[in-house]
Amino acid sequence: MASLQDPLGPVVGAKAAKRLAAALDVRTVGELLRHYPRRYENRGELTDLASLRDGENVTVQAEIASVSVRRMRNRPGTVLEAVVTDGRGRLTLTFFGRGRQDWREKVLRPGVRGLFAGQVSTFQGKRQLSHPEYELLGSGEAVARAAEYAAELIPVYPATSDITSWQIADSVRMALDLLDVDDDPLPRVIRDRHGLSGLADALRGIHRPADRRDAERARQRLKWDEAFTLQVILAQRRRAAIAFSATPRKRRPDGLVAEFDGRLPFELTVGQQLAGATIADELALDHPMHRLLQGEVGSGKTVIAVRAMLQVVDGGGQAALLAPTEVLAQQHYRSISALLGPLAQAGQLGGAEQATRLTLLTGSLGAAARRKALLDAASGGAGIVIGTHALLEENVQFADLGLVVIDEQHRFGVEQRDALREKAGDGRPHVLVMTATPIPRTVAMTVFGDLEVSTLTELPAGRQAISTHVVPAAERPRYLERTWERITEEVAKGRQAYVVCPRIGGDEPAGDGPAGNGSAADGAAGDGSAAWAAAAGPAGLGRTDEDLADQGAARRPPLAVLDLAALLDRGPLAGVRLAVLHGRLPPDEKDRVMLAFAGGSVDVLVTTTVVEVGVDVPNATTMVIMDADRFGVSQLHQLRGRVGRGSHEGLCLLVTEAEAGGPARLRLDAVAATLDGFKLSRLDLEQRREGDVLGAAQAGRKSSLKLLTLLADEDLIGAARRAATELVDADPALAGQRGLAAAIGALLAEQRAEFLEKA
Ligand code: ADP
Ligand code: MG
Repeated sequence: MASLQDPLGPVVGAKAAKRLAAALDVRTVGELLRHYPRRYENRGELTDLASLRDGENVTVQAEIASVSVRRMRNRPGTVLEAVVTDGRGRLTLTFFGRGRQDWREKVLRPGVRGLFAGQVSTFQGKRQLSHPEYELLGSGEAVARAAEYAAELIPVYPATSDITSWQIADSVRMALDLLDVDDDPLPRVIRDRHGLSGLADALRGIHRPADRRDAERARQRLKWDEAFTLQVILAQRRRAAIAFSATPRKRRPDGLVAEFDGRLPFELTVGQQLAGATIADELALDHPMHRLLQGEVGSGKTVIAVRAMLQVVDGGGQAALLAPTEVLAQQHYRSISALLGPLAQAGQLGGAEQATRLTLLTGSLGAAARRKALLDAASGGAGIVIGTHALLEENVQFADLGLVVIDEQHRFGVEQRDALREKAGDGRPHVLVMTATPIPRTVAMTVFGDLEVSTLTELPAGRQAISTHVVPAAERPRYLERTWERITEEVAKGRQAYVVCPRIGGDEPAGDGPAGNGSAADGAAGDGSAAWAAAAGPAGLGRTDEDLADQGAARRPPLAVLDLAALLDRGPLAGVRLAVLHGRLPPDEKDRVMLAFAGGSVDVLVTTTVVEVGVDVPNATTMVIMDADRFGVSQLHQLRGRVGRGSHEGLCLLVTEAEAGGPARLRLDAVAATLDGFKLSRLDLEQRREGDVLGAAQAGRKSSLKLLTLLADEDLIGAARRAATELVDADPALAGQRGLAAAIGALLAEQRAEFLEKA
């Protein structure tokens, strides 16, 4: 008998175990049995040997007449040929082996009867089955078994050049024969309630299904394992978080929030009111809030965050707002100062009576300013502290940190969230995470499963439309020329534009491209785009046939900010005031450029994705994205959110050389066709592997989601989440669930191992 944790050696033999480890990184019975078939093939109808036809999948019942084994001529290994007959015809079975001998010689002996299944082919004039599946029959076994066998499905495994599907199938069969599961990780009540099979049955069912229904039933059960384990971990995390205490910050009818609301120049949208009320209620509780606030760029998240921060100040505490970049921290500082007006001018002339103070703390502050900011935070003089990662440093202290607001969560890890939490004295601060990347519900339930979610679905009235078009630069060079003309026209009307490139250029070191994981693209790789751009000439950036021929099949490096800016300055945008912005600029230079652009003394900003999140220049109406196919769908959507923020309509042009009708172009067409971020994030998710979406923090490499798809299995994930919450509420330590506790322990250990690998 073998359990799931047992090493493979004793179960499948040392040689096979070694091969499985080398080819698939599979080392235990459990890992092997979780290497699921990709699909199934039908064995094929029971056929007599006289009526075989090439190409058909057949099952034959026959007796082995003779067997021969010979060495292969050109490479190491053996060929075993067994000739079988059913009295009406003959057929050769061919097996290729790697070693000097073939173990099948011991079982495939003349006189033995069996069922053989495979695809018929002809080799040197002889009908054959290459690597057939087979089952040998004892002397008395009935014909009934033959019909049953013919109807069974053959599993087809993800294989590599080092291991074939049938080699995997052989090992799986041995493991299944010995398998003994005594602690099912899925509790009996849950299995009963949802009509799910036991684990051992499910593993047999997915590897050796009797029919398709059997396979589907097994899949369903195994999907449950994936969803449930993850949800139990998250339920435990939520429970642990709630166990902490927090200082309640109740609403005050005469406080800063009330004054702020009275001063707001607009009405809150219904969504803002609802989310705001939920947050206000949670801040008043004596355990920490953990809430994710998601909503499109411009949906008004910042206003909600400000009201939450003021409620905490009203309650005697402080709030910290953590932004992912210096530019964004400064922008928040400016826009929140403006929103608060006299409410943030404590001690100043014109400050409101119960005013608080706003402090900015970033890495680029000079020593004196930094000292003052640190003092403001530590003394409690600043009710609201806005900053970058600098806020996480050890010497930053707060008098009474009651709320942490994190903008654009996807740039921060769980560890950073924790680092800031630790800064609250006793108990924990409330946490509000804001993201503009719309997250489908199931992803929110898994990736951000330890957070509750509020969503803003509408944009405030008066927001401008953004129209988006694809510019096929290779097919229509003229369209690209027109693109630059459009920018010149906008500038002539006193408006501004962004031109976004995937790369910085110059002598930048190698790094990740933007399409990789949708995170910061600054500092991407390679070179040669300078040469490319120059060759393309200043009039158009369309690629010539010579360029194509020169570079063969290799994809040219993505366009770079520095190269393109120089080119535009000399060519199509001569006379327009250009500036470049990218992550390699020193922070104060970045600020200078951003301020110049915001102030209108720069017309066109040639930039990397540093402008992706939250940058707000209402006078910018046009965005041109070069090599748009190199960006992810959600990222493009984020980027174009930079325009159409003022009183003029926004225009976004996606420049690409991707072929019409190809997958890259279809993605761009989808972005051009809708402004619905949720639709696009679903599309993004469909196109990326779930593991990439989940990231290292949630899913181990081997035991991560193999069967579960976040989009299609929404109902199942929801049910698993409810079941997990119920179970963890009843039995937080999983004392009565040995199998489950073991499965979770294994998953967490693996995550830790991967974390260390990466660190
Ligand atoms: P987000 O952070 O979600 O991208 P912001 O909070 O920055 O959006 O809001 C974008 C702009 O819309 C800001 O200028 C803000 O003052 C304004 N705004 C927010 N809520 C409303 C509303 N209900 N009505 C009109 N304008 C609003
Ligand atoms: Mg924002």
